[in-house]
Amino acid sequence: MNVSRSPDLSGMTMRLPVGVWVEGVRYREASLRALSGSDEETIGDASSWPSPAARVTALLTAAVMRIGALAPIDVEQIRALTVLDRDAVLIALRQRLFGDRIQSTIICPNAECGKPIDLDFRLSDLPVPDRSGDTRRYEFTIDGRSVAYRLPDGGDQEAAAGLVGTAVDQAEQIILRRCVENFDELSADQVAALHAEMARRDPQLDDEFDAHCPECGRDFGVHFDIQDFLLREISGTRLQLYRQVHTLAWYYHWSEAEILAMPFQKRHIYLDLLSDLVSEIAEARA
Ligand SMILES: [Zn+2]
Repeated sequence: MNVSRSPDLSGMTMRLPVGVWVEGVRYREASLRALSGSDEETIGDASSWPSPAARVTALLTAAVMRIGALAPIDVEQIRALTVLDRDAVLIALRQRLFGDRIQSTIICPNAECGKPIDLDFRLSDLPVPDRSGDTRRYEFTIDGRSVAYRLPDGGDQEAAAGLVGTAVDQAEQIILRRCVENFDELSADQVAALHAEMARRDPQLDDEFDAHCPECGRDFGVHFDIQDFLLREISGTRLQLYRQVHTLAWYYHWSEAEILAMPFQKRHIYLDLLSDLVSEIAEARA
């Protein structure tokens, strides 16, 4: 993943794997701003969003300031980003917020074992598929007729969100209906052929890992979902966020709103300075 960090605290730029087309011009350079405590608080509250996909859209709308010549970026433009682009931005944000390394625990899928297994890898090691040859729309010929389609985006993820995990077939139908022109005119066989073509055309992040359980010796594949993982992480650090607000308010007498408005990195700089100060005082007293 190409992540170039600007020298200041305000943000970063990255290259979207797919990008956005406007009037035949493709834009791929995205400028991201640093997330604030308010962003973490809003996105971290899962109960206030209809679906994980909607939370991702909100997170990206807060973070993405510019794509090429396009600015500001609104929520509909974020929804229209392909799933791969959304995942790539989430990875860049995660690297910025919590670092590149992922340490997690999964449960061995062998029902007779079920022991926890440590997962440890770097996001920068995930290969991003080359999508330089992409176009905005594709044509696919089935049984002599040409069918136009586009690749799934965030809006499709949001539309199908309620069915993912329960009715996968229905979720797929909803997404295909949105992506394929004149979908209802296709036969079941034609839909299956088109589905296979779209899957071939839309390689996602290679996020399947070979894992091994040291307890029972079983080898299995693990799917890493950056959307799910980062949302859980942001939700999981909410108590920590309030503790940090409490600490800074206690020492500096800043208001909650002022502290929550700070970029993540700036908040952590002040916390590090405080930590150094507390250590110095403790050493002086010893
Ligand atoms: Zn096992």
